[in-house]
Amino acid sequence: MSFPIPTLSRIGGELQLESVSLTELAHQYGTPTYVYSARAMRDAYGAYAEALAGVPSQVCYAVKANSNLAVLGVFARLGAGFDIVSGGELSRVLAAGGRAEKVVFSGVGKRGDEIAQAIECGIQCFNIESAAELDQISRIASYLGKTAPVAFRVNPAVDPKTHPYISTGLRSNKFGVDFDEALALYRRAQTLPGLRVSGIACHIGSQLLDPAPVVEAADKVLGLVDRLAAEGILLDHIDLGGGLGIRYQDEAPPSVADYLAPLIARFGQRREKLCFEPGRSLVGNAGLLLTRVELLKHGVEKNFAVVDAAMNDLARPALYDAYHASVPVSERQGTAAACYDIVGPICESGDFLARERELAIADGDLLALLSAGAYGMTMSSNYNTRPRAAEVLVDGERTFLARSRETVESLYLNEHALPASF
Ligand SMILES: *Cc1c(COP(=O)(O)O)cnc(C)c1O
Repeated sequence: MSFPIPTLSRIGGELQLESVSLTELAHQYGTPTYVYSARAMRDAYGAYAEALAGVPSQVCYAVKANSNLAVLGVFARLGAGFDIVSGGELSRVLAAGGRAEKVVFSGVGKRGDEIAQAIECGIQCFNIESAAELDQISRIASYLGKTAPVAFRVNPAVDPKTHPYISTGLRSNKFGVDFDEALALYRRAQTLPGLRVSGIACHIGSQLLDPAPVVEAADKVLGLVDRLAAEGILLDHIDLGGGLGIRYQDEAPPSVADYLAPLIARFGQRREKLCFEPGRSLVGNAGLLLTRVELLKHGVEKNFAVVDAAMNDLARPALYDAYHASVPVSERQGTAAACYDIVGPICESGDFLARERELAIADGDLLALLSAGAYGMTMSSNYNTRPRAAEVLVDGERTFLARSRETVESLYLNEHALPASF
């Protein structure tokens, strides 16, 4: 089967991302290192742009999937908008060259200072998730003498059939406002100062492999938009969120074109702009985590490949039991394959990156953990006082150090050793 990363290939037994040898890259930058393909990102974004050509539309990259400034820069240069969930992400977007007028701000717990920051910057829209947030944004905008554009993120109560931790459109979870309350909230928003009712949003979950629930959600949302219009509340955009899944192992997600087709069909005659907030489908299969085998440990029941990356670098296996393909960077002749769990050095049994993989490897070999471009680095931590990995962006033959490896000293820079006087 082909690699899930479209710009990854094996040439003469050696893995290459675009035109860059991963062995050379490991020599230059060390391990563990996240490596991203600019071309894979541009192609993934291009699939959305192409499918939406001629449709008044906007693609807002979900920053939380991968918020490295260089990655944001790739999308900013393509004219993408951005979906943010914090003031910190807004600062990143601006530092990377993104434009505030193309930013939508999602999230259930926006702080007052973050709301003020976003209003001052002139973001495109707040996706409001509660009645209390509506009042708060109205108050802050009025105080600042500004008008905040707002949308409600509605919860269409459809089952996205994905992992429970990443399904967000069910009644029982914390996201969005109840569908049945939305009408009253829109009426209320019309009467409050400092607001301009601008749109509606929904996002039902992540790693969606079946487009049907999104279409069902879209139909519910369109019904609500029409009821609003009948009351004279006209919206300028409809945001159908992110969530399109990717192949990690043997999943067969719909293509971007197939996923969007039924949604675009419903927008043929509509006046509102059609917006999306994809994260994973733009960057997930543009990235890998490059790691080195520290040692092989052959046990009675199991074999372990202990590598220099760990759950602090890539949390998804520990968190969701997620699968990442694990591929030797250099093919090895004359070494028998064995079944390994690939584990990190962290003091937790949950510290695994892959389980039960047939691999012909030896101490010191390089491995690539594929499909790690989304929710990899952004979910990393410094657990066990492990400096976070470096990040490198590859474009054709060129490499760019997008983030230097952390130093241990930097990890306790904000800490204070007890002085004798305390
Ligand atoms: C996480 C998130 C996204 C992106 O989801 P993906 O599954 O990565 O496409 C989009 N919108 C909102 C509101 C989110 O929370």
